[in-house]
Amino acid sequence: MITEEELDNLIICKKCHTLHKRVPLPPNKKAFCSKCDILLYQNNPNIIDKTLALVISAAISLFVAFKFTIVTIDIQGLEQSLTLYALFMVILEQHQYIVGIMFIFLIFIFPITIIFSMLILLILMKLKKGAYLTHRLLILLAHIRPWSMVDIFFISLLVAMVKLFDYAYIELGVSFVALIFTLILDIIITKNISFYELWDLHTKIYGHIDE
Ligand SMILES: [Zn+2]
Repeated sequence: MITEEELDNLIICKKCHTLHKRVPLPPNKKAFCSKCDILLYQNNPNIIDKTLALVISAAISLFVAFKFTIVTIDIQGLEQSLTLYALFMVILEQHQYIVGIMFIFLIFIFPITIIFSMLILLILMKLKKGAYLTHRLLILLAHIRPWSMVDIFFISLLVAMVKLFDYAYIELGVSFVALIFTLILDIIITKNISFYELWDLHTKIYGHIDE
């Protein structure tokens, strides 16, 4: 049998499920999977501050994406600038309900929930406050994270626009650029800190929390 302490010293690669032994790392070094080269863990003393900066940038970029024009369409000489929200209303008007549901989850609910959960989580961890709330936020992120699939998010947006504006002239707006920027930031955040590390940090800051 393996003791709990021995188990704590093992780490499984979330991608290929290869088991690795944890070794203490010097500051600013990273450990990667020996098989698929994915980040396993790292010793980064400023990881919370760095990730927080990235998450704040993602929040600002998401705000820009919601606030400004995603697309300008020209239907029979009539130019119309649409925000994401207006685009969503057009989708509903066209009775594209499945696209509408995908749209609301992938473009509004998941990104907002993920970014703001991360934001609250990191601020509280930085302040070393809210042991229970941060624990709940980590559980929420564990559930919702697999759904923030960048490719689906983007494809659904493009499909929605192509479907809606079949023969219309389309010009992409500031919001579209901001969305791409949010997605890039999301990829950087995911590469920067693994979910395992967030749990690990949580345990380091607050100790073990019983359910
Ligand atoms: Zn691996």
